[in-house]
Amino acid sequence: MKSRVVVEINAKIHRILGVRDMRDRIEVGDRWVAVPGTGDLRPCDRCGREHEIHVDVELADGRRANIGSGCAKGESMEVQARLKSAVSAAKARSKLRGELALVCDAQVHASQAWREVEELHAPPPELLEEVPVANGIRQIWGMGDARVWTVPGSSQGFDSERRQALISAWRGNRYRERGFGQPPYSYDRRKKDLEDRLTKIEIKLGSLVF
Ligand SMILES: [Zn+2]
Repeated sequence: MKSRVVVEINAKIHRILGVRDMRDRIEVGDRWVAVPGTGDLRPCDRCGREHEIHVDVELADGRRANIGSGCAKGESMEVQARLKSAVSAAKARSKLRGELALVCDAQVHASQAWREVEELHAPPPELLEEVPVANGIRQIWGMGDARVWTVPGSSQGFDSERRQALISAWRGNRYRERGFGQPPYSYDRRKKDLEDRLTKIEIKLGSLVF
């Protein structure tokens, strides 16, 4: 592609048709960083170099061209300002899409792990210890590596509610063992939030291209 002949396209930009940031993103600490070199490179009709952020434009003479985000020098202030905003919106969209894909993937795996855990047979509960306390006896019940305590001095012994708490704790441990810290439904909220932000960015981008 390097030997591609650059077409003389110096006509002014009449319309910005679209902007796309093609770079992949990686998570660095709590930030998302674009990785240079991961995008589709496209030779620029203006400078001949290859850019990873693609801007499609219609020129004053009716031709279409693709340029890079920094190749609109000499255009009117309005075109330059719009292009700048559109490029930043396209970058934000690309970042949100990357995050959304990751959350969707995590949600699928979390749901799968949750189902696996629900199908496991929990071991039988055992009474491990009875501790005399001021107001009665506190019992400690175990199920594998999970523990619950009964409430001394109340009528509540190891009843069905305590038994259920023990099973839930045991299943929670099996779920965490599979590498998940949050229940599957917690991903729904994150997904919804990212989808909402993505919709807003799409609208913004739609209003910037003209
Ligand atoms: Zn260029």
